[in-house]
Amino acid sequence: MALVNEHFLKLPGNYLFADIAKKVNAYQVSHPKQKVISLGIGDVTQPLCPAVIEAMHKAVDEMAHKASFRGYGPERGYNFLREAIIKNEFLPRGIHLDPNEIFINDGAKSDTGNIQEIVRWDNNVGVTDPIYPVYIDSNVMIGRAGVLENGRWSNVTYMPCTDENGFVPQIPDHRVDMIYLCYPNNPTGTVLPKEELRKWVNYAIRNDSIIFYDAAYQAYIQDDSIPHSIYEIRGARKVAIEFRSFSKTAGFTGVRCGYTIVPKDLTAVTVDGKTRVSLNQLWDRRQNTKFNGTSYISQRAAEAIYTPEGKEQVKATINYYMENARIMRTQLTKLGFKVFGGENAPYLWVKTPNNTSSWKFFEQMLYGASVVCTPGVGFGPSGEGYIRLTSFGDREDCKEAMRRIADWMLGSNK
Ligand code: PLP
Repeated sequence: MALVNEHFLKLPGNYLFADIAKKVNAYQVSHPKQKVISLGIGDVTQPLCPAVIEAMHKAVDEMAHKASFRGYGPERGYNFLREAIIKNEFLPRGIHLDPNEIFINDGAKSDTGNIQEIVRWDNNVGVTDPIYPVYIDSNVMIGRAGVLENGRWSNVTYMPCTDENGFVPQIPDHRVDMIYLCYPNNPTGTVLPKEELRKWVNYAIRNDSIIFYDAAYQAYIQDDSIPHSIYEIRGARKVAIEFRSFSKTAGFTGVRCGYTIVPKDLTAVTVDGKTRVSLNQLWDRRQNTKFNGTSYISQRAAEAIYTPEGKEQVKATINYYMENARIMRTQLTKLGFKVFGGENAPYLWVKTPNNTSSWKFFEQMLYGASVVCTPGVGFGPSGEGYIRLTSFGDREDCKEAMRRIADWMLGSNK
């Protein structure tokens, strides 16, 4: 008799975006003529840049001829892409990586979810709160998170990030084996200064912990003092795995390509405490079994963002989104909202007025301004009393949404 993995049954339904859609539909039924603007989407809206399109066409043409056709590629990814990443992303920041420390993937979601397979099921887990849900859910699936009590998992340490602590998570006072950090952060759009990140690296070294560092939004950092990579911190090669993605960097959400860095210095100990095992080798072994590589076309597309034209074009799109963020920040601040993020990330994290709950404010804004946001509490208990707005929309929609919110707020304050 095949028994089900009951850990899956512990997972609450992923209702956040379904609930949002349901509420928006109900609103549209009663307001059929009103155009709703969504600032809730986490997907990009601008097309791939010309350099990427050209590289993809070329790669497709190569696939059309026997001499240049490619089948299965190397599991870790093609050398041309791994070398371009090292040269353009890491060497300029003084970080030296071996190509075999880079694993090309089909986007960061798979690896941020799968990476926990290579460490024991009974490690405990720490996350900043609120957070991208994949980290916790993937640990629930393997039975590592414990049981859900009052919205919190019993074997997970939650490190609140709120207005009160300036969105800087406090270092735990006990040992946490697996720590998930995401900077720039989804959903709060906040970043971690170098000296704060250094505290985490030192904590991990002291406690023999592993940091899973999600840098999917690093391309949005504008402030030169903010680290783009955890490997800018001395010692991080011994304790950290880093995830990167071309999704938000270059509009690859539908193309699919990202990469994970597993340094060769990173090890974890066996349960008897006697042997230290290389996680680079374990991850390689895992990928060889369960992953057959990212498509050649996607990898050639990713490589193209490092050409001189590609760099300029990708930067222009990021600037476009960041200008949306600036417009939103300025307008919302003018209206008296407390706004966080949006300066080094495409997300704005907005405190609801008068301690209104996230969902209540979501409904008020939908009915008052026909603008959709994401309720902060959907990202974890410390997200209550906040909403998330994204700057991934079109400029005109973004400006119109701000006009509507202004009319609504000023009207409702009369
Ligand atoms: N990590 C974070 C923090 C994200 O917000 C996302 C997507 O929204 C991902 C990873 C996954 O992105 P992808 O799989 O498209 O690379």
